[in-house]
Amino acid sequence: MTASIHTTCPYCGVGCGVKIDGQGAVTGDQLHPANRGALCVKGMALGESQTLPNRLLYPRVDGRQLDWPEAIATVATGFAEIIKRHGPQAVAFYGSGQMLTEDYYVANKLMKGFIGSANIDTNSRLCMSSAVAAHQRAFGEDAVPAGYEDLAEAELVVMVGANSAWTHPVLFRRLEQARAANPAQRWIVIDPRGTATSQQADLHLQIKPGSDLLLFNGLARRILDSASMDRAFIEQHVTGFAELSLTLGGSEYRTDKVAEATGLTIAELNRFYQAFLDTPKTLTLFCMGINQSEQGTDNAGAIINCHLLTGRIGKPGAAPFSLTGQPNAMGGREVGGLANQLAAHMDFAPGNRDKVARFWGSDRLAPGPGLKAMEMIDALERGDIKALWVMGSNPAVSLPDSARARRALEKCELLVVSDISPNTDTARLARVLLPAAGWGEKDGTVTNSARTISRQRPFKPAPGAARPDWWAICQVAQAMGFEQAFGFDSPAAIFREHAALSGFENGGERLFDISALSGLSDEQYQQMTPRSWPLAGRETGPARLFGDGHFATPDGKARLHPASPRERSEPAGARLLLNTGRLRDQWHTMSRTGHVARLMAATSEPQAQINPSTLSRGGLDQALLLQLHNERGHTLLRVVADESIPPGQVFVPMHWSGEFSSGGRVNDLVSARGCPTSGQPAFKQNPVQVVAV
Ligand code: SF4
Repeated sequence: MTASIHTTCPYCGVGCGVKIDGQGAVTGDQLHPANRGALCVKGMALGESQTLPNRLLYPRVDGRQLDWPEAIATVATGFAEIIKRHGPQAVAFYGSGQMLTEDYYVANKLMKGFIGSANIDTNSRLCMSSAVAAHQRAFGEDAVPAGYEDLAEAELVVMVGANSAWTHPVLFRRLEQARAANPAQRWIVIDPRGTATSQQADLHLQIKPGSDLLLFNGLARRILDSASMDRAFIEQHVTGFAELSLTLGGSEYRTDKVAEATGLTIAELNRFYQAFLDTPKTLTLFCMGINQSEQGTDNAGAIINCHLLTGRIGKPGAAPFSLTGQPNAMGGREVGGLANQLAAHMDFAPGNRDKVARFWGSDRLAPGPGLKAMEMIDALERGDIKALWVMGSNPAVSLPDSARARRALEKCELLVVSDISPNTDTARLARVLLPAAGWGEKDGTVTNSARTISRQRPFKPAPGAARPDWWAICQVAQAMGFEQAFGFDSPAAIFREHAALSGFENGGERLFDISALSGLSDEQYQQMTPRSWPLAGRETGPARLFGDGHFATPDGKARLHPASPRERSEPAGARLLLNTGRLRDQWHTMSRTGHVARLMAATSEPQAQINPSTLSRGGLDQALLLQLHNERGHTLLRVVADESIPPGQVFVPMHWSGEFSSGGRVNDLVSARGCPTSGQPAFKQNPVQVVAV
């Protein structure tokens, strides 16, 4: 009998371990620390998504099927000619939190190290880049301080802008188990809409959209006046206290003013604030509702401020905890696969450039940061970017202002798309289509929300001529003349180099150090069990970071960052406020889950959820279909009257694409504006008008 294969689920940042038996049956992996055998409905349906219709099996160029050498030559020559004519800034890569760390590493190395541009960004920009920027600003490095063990340790769990019951179901199940084991554990959910998560909360704060910063600044002000402030911790381990105190002295942070601005009652605010002040073991989980905002970095920073002021970090059950959406957004962050990072948690400081140039043996390193996701669309629109390689993502649907994004992609002289499907809205615009190996066929590593690196292992051959992304990238790099730097023959070889770079001349400066794994043999890589970083000198990293009060800043101290709320750039006026989010059973633009009957059963068409009072005020009670529109676009949706949506708002799931419906592409209505610090778009609050159809 064939032994079971241990791999990980490809859907979300919880990073559950999955076991595949000899017959291909999928079960949860009892040995994986993230899920200990549990799986959610998407994970349990993984077996059913293995036979996708219309799988992309062979390379295509201008609609013609070609073999790999011809397709590689087309991409390499196309990129090289554009670089020769217009310079390295005229080309770009757009990746995905679906890519394995090894894919990400070679893509980042090729663009930043050898093409000489930093124009490589990813759909992770849309998901957690505000949390990344807030971590870097406060801790000196993008490092999540908590681990999943803290879910059981916490006595107060604050969940902000996160419907974890649907979007991180196994993590939520761990919380349910923690509360069952410790009935004293309390949950406070902060979310403008009622959700499966808020239904289970001890307190649901239904705040006005976009008032998170005010809410947490109000909490910080209350901390300053209370015994819960940890003066000794602040004096020894934190800077920026005077500046923050000055900002919080403003009258807008008085409880009555905060209540008015957030739409909460004073009693609700007092309950939340008092619970936080009274509970040293407080864990604050935050996700898209915080990050996808015009002040996303400041929102996350305000949460971190409250934890630093109380010294609640690095201790069991006490930390700010950013949840990631995608299975390998963290691995992408680790290799530096964002346009404003260089590599291995290093930015573009001259010392880092010098180090990485020597490590890679390159004299063509990118001079500085490149274009972030939305800046790439601007550059495509202007004609400044002429070649773009999209890997494992569907930006024609998932980017904000997506009708404009599609027009910009159409202008691209050479659009290359690596995917498993030729039918995504982005793949249909491509000149070159490259068939990618999918889950169950790919081999490499991923990192979950809790810094745990796990193996993704293949258990079946890729169909047709589908090949892993790392292989296609290395082939193109070699065809462009970079044979020596891209002579990798396996993901294990790439992983060893990635691990070695994390420790190269590190000297303890950076937390992200997995150089202990740089000497793994192929066999050891195959057998590698899940482990968390940092690994310096250890088999596996600590469950939580900063327990010694030492941070990754030059002076070793964490930084408080004061920020005041700004007016939204697009006031709603008389219009409804559109909020978008995810469904329990769907994933991204549905390119896998949309083909699984039982996952489509719960919600089979695009819907707009609106409070009945809003419908009746607008004379829409009898409407079956609604058109949502604004100056950017319009979309058609089935109307669902829903009391859990506050009056004046409309909620629309973000998943539908042209592959599955003629309506529902809700990102057509979303503004491309976002947080100026992180570059993350503000998906959550966009004014729309609604008419019956
Ligand atoms: Fe997969 Fe996330 Fe569900 Fe775990 S919680 S099985 S990682 S989708």
